[in-house]
Amino acid sequence: MADTLVKLADNVWIFPRDPDPVRAQSQPNVGIIVTEKHTILVDGGNSPRHARRIMITLDDIQAPSVYNIIYTHTHWDHVFGAMVFGAPAVAHELGQRQLAEMATRPWGNNYIMEEIQRSPAREPGLRAMMRAMEEWRNFRIVQPELVLTQKMNMYIDGVTIEIEHVGGNHAPDSVVVRLPQSRIMFVGDCFYPPPLHLRNPGDTYDFAMMRSLVRPDYDTYVDGHNDPVSRETFAQIAMSETLPVDSL
Ligand SMILES: [Zn+2]
Repeated sequence: MADTLVKLADNVWIFPRDPDPVRAQSQPNVGIIVTEKHTILVDGGNSPRHARRIMITLDDIQAPSVYNIIYTHTHWDHVFGAMVFGAPAVAHELGQRQLAEMATRPWGNNYIMEEIQRSPAREPGLRAMMRAMEEWRNFRIVQPELVLTQKMNMYIDGVTIEIEHVGGNHAPDSVVVRLPQSRIMFVGDCFYPPPLHLRNPGDTYDFAMMRSLVRPDYDTYVDGHNDPVSRETFAQIAMSETLPVDSL
């Protein structure tokens, strides 16, 4: 079945997370911001295969070529597809360090099997990576050319994109990406608990972080692995400190 984008505003779409809740844990939403001459992505997909599917949908909407990829954080499922787009990336400085280190590893199924031997707690995540990647030929991790420490604003063909570091328990390099004109905020995985292999029983969303992101001038919140929600819903989860039953 052909993939279809979800339109959030005149110039903003997402390539939605995998509809299967298990696969969605490692196939996140990818944001697509289209200006007159450029396309900017929020995250790069989990694999070249995922990225190629995204490319096809970019053709469907006649999006201009990809100009930049903003990494919400540098977990593999947000980064490993980036090489397909032929565009530079933007990341937080902690993510830059992380990606430089990751680039030194001998990526491939043999290496992943060795990693599973070394740290069995990472097995589910690493197996998901192996399934997503399918093959490793010519694989490379796109390193950020633009790096922020706290905030960075981009003004592209009249579209304002605000990037701000928020950190958090899930990934220290997490940033949020705000589009003030379309009142959309991409928050990545910033309020999620730590990745599975680092998680303790009882770990849940960082509700205080969520509350800190609620602003009256934003109507739509897009996180990494759930469907987009309205500000009201986002705020309600943050205030009630209760996860919706279908949340990841
Ligand atoms: Zn993550």
